[in-house]
This record gives sequence, structure tokens and C-alpha cells, in this order.
Amino acid sequence: MGKPECSTCHRLIPDGLLACRDCTLDRSRAALFDYQRAPLRRVLEEGGELVVRHVGASRHVQMFGGYDFTFCTLRIPDTAHRTRVIVGSDAVKQLCADCQLEMARVLKAAYD
Ligand SMILES: [Zn+2]
Ligand SMILES: [Zn+2]
Repeated sequence: MGKPECSTCHRLIPDGLLACRDCTLDRSRAALFDYQRAPLRRVLEEGGELVVRHVGASRHVQMFGGYDFTFCTLRIPDTAHRTRVIVGSDAVKQLCADCQLEMARVLKAAYD
């Protein structure tokens, strides 16, 4: 009898797991980014604010919807300092480059 294999990536599913961990993570990541599209677009069009969290030495943009993740998918500790920046201001350019890249990618998808 063969071991269970993931129907998506064809890797073996580890004992005790019902689904392939890698694919589950990929799917929830994709869903998380899909969810960011509408609020990010709205904030951009209305000139709203982004929530900035200080994690490590950088300032990152927190995802919308109360998720404890930055756009570059770091988990945000509860204690991380919180500030806000206005979309389109120079302050945004000082933020984490990966966060800016991911936001641009999400927005591109929103307008495609
Ligand atoms: Zn898989
Ligand atoms: Zn970041």
C-alpha cells in the first residue's frame, strides 16, 4: 500500500497530517494576499493611511484585516511599535523594500 501523496505537488504527506503542509501554506498565503487587494486599492485611491510596525531594524507595512503579518509576511510581535504613514508620502519610501514590492504586486493584480 502506497503512502498518501499530495494531489497538487505529489510530495508524500507526512504521517499524522491530513494535507500537504507546503500546499496548505501556499494556499493560505495566496488567500491572504488576495484579501489585501480591495483594502489596499481603497486606501490608495482615497489617500488613506498604512499601518506601520517596527519589526527588527525595519519598518514594515501591516496587512489589512487585523492579520499579524507584514506584507513581506513576517509575523508581527504584539509588542512591535505601531505608527501610520500616509499613502504616497515620502515616508513610504523609507519602509521595508520587500513590503513595498509586495504591495506593488498586490496592486498590480488588483488592476489587471
Ligand atoms: Zn502539496
Ligand atoms: Zn517588510
